[in-house]
Amino acid sequence: MDFDDTPDQAHLRGKTRQFLDEHADELEHADGPYLEEPGTDRVQALRRTQATLFDAGMIGLTWPTEYGGGAGTNAQQAVVNEELHRARIAGPIGHVGLGMCGPTVLGHGSEDQKQRYIRRLLRGDDLWCQLFSEPSSGSDLAALRTRAVRHDDGWHVQGQKVWTTLAQHCRYGIVLCRTDPDASKHRGLTMFVIDMHAPGVTVRPLRQMNGHQSFNEVFLDDVVIDDSERLGDVNDGWQVALTTLMNERMAVGGGGGELGVRSDALIAHAAERLPRLAANQRVLATHELGKVLVDSLAARYTGYRMQTSMERGKRPGPEASAGKLTAVRVAHATADLGQRLLGDDAVLARSRDGDWRWANSAASTPGVALAGGADEILRNILGERVLGLPSDRAPKPTASESR
Ligand SMILES: Cc1cc2nc3c(=O)[nH]c(=O)nc-3n(C[C@H](O)[C@H](O)[C@H](O)COP(=O)(O)OP(=O)(O)OC[C@H]3O[C@@H](n4cnc5c(N)ncnc54)[C@H](O)[C@@H]3O)c2cc1C
Repeated sequence: MDFDDTPDQAHLRGKTRQFLDEHADELEHADGPYLEEPGTDRVQALRRTQATLFDAGMIGLTWPTEYGGGAGTNAQQAVVNEELHRARIAGPIGHVGLGMCGPTVLGHGSEDQKQRYIRRLLRGDDLWCQLFSEPSSGSDLAALRTRAVRHDDGWHVQGQKVWTTLAQHCRYGIVLCRTDPDASKHRGLTMFVIDMHAPGVTVRPLRQMNGHQSFNEVFLDDVVIDDSERLGDVNDGWQVALTTLMNERMAVGGGGGELGVRSDALIAHAAERLPRLAANQRVLATHELGKVLVDSLAARYTGYRMQTSMERGKRPGPEASAGKLTAVRVAHATADLGQRLLGDDAVLARSRDGDWRWANSAASTPGVALAGGADEILRNILGERVLGLPSDRAPKPTASESR
């Protein structure tokens, strides 16, 4: 496999790098304040950054041109992503829309929905959230209880969702509802686009142990959704949800990126801190550092392989689950080693020098192991679909029916 740029990719890389150098002051950086940092309006600033990058053709590069995309290749998007990473540009605030909701609307929405939603989603003009999990259905998503009942004026939705990332900032969401309570649990579901500003939608942020409010509980009290906002057929929502979940796994672990913790930052800290350690500790930490970096490269190149096979028309299979598992393991190890190298400074340092990210990462990576399919569920999928082991559930669902 040749990892060098082709002449076209080298040209794209140079152009991207030049743009990012010239516009560095207008763009938000990964080391900036966290979303709720008092005295900042980080959400609006991140939306402006997403719009600037979209206008420059760096977001949605592989999406269809008729909806604002660039119709480019995954390899081109990977080149741009590498340059964004190198320039320490903050990840897009609209990541749930880009990674999960947008692909679902593209895959199952009507032409009218695509025209209305996709371009604004790519640009960050509208932020989107994913309303799947409920208080008693996370891994067993198909057990969800939020009901949608059809009336003359549309579908009336009643229920509660939870862990809805960024819902407090979103204009739209995709919501999975039970439309036939008598059908088997995977068969009686339907997916809709929901206006988060509609009457009956109440969003309550939840505070996490890292102090942030990244996700919410959402109460849906007789929210009316027009039938034209349905995604896919009535009672076929599970198939639509599988599109979202597969894209979620690809977005989390398939891009070959790092999950909020950066190995280059780890190397910088190691260069400064290792000489201060006693000889035996230094050797151990150096070995650990080597292992983390090798694993992180392996995760990245596995992600590239997945993207190449998608470019050849293949649908991501269980390798998306393996990619997510690996990316989470690398994130854990990077955050853990970074924290240990910095010692007390990892806890005490604030955003002034970006070091708060280590304490934050250590507190956040356990959550990444749950989001988009918990580690145990992904291992079940690999056990059943790759190793051919018996299903962990009875009566037997197909493996794709596990979240
Ligand atoms: C950071 C973060 C962001 C999130 N964002 C969203 C979002 O935007 N929208 C949304 O809808 N949801 C979101 N979620 C929710 C996420 O999808 C769920 O947390 C996840 O599906 C697990 O469900 P649960 O939390 O109910 O845990 P449970 O399903 O109750 O699982 C608890 C534990 O039991 C294990 N377990 C469960 N079933 C099995 C089994 N069959 N075999 C072995 N072990 C099992 C799990 O692996 C886990 O360790 C988010 C979660 C996090 C942490």
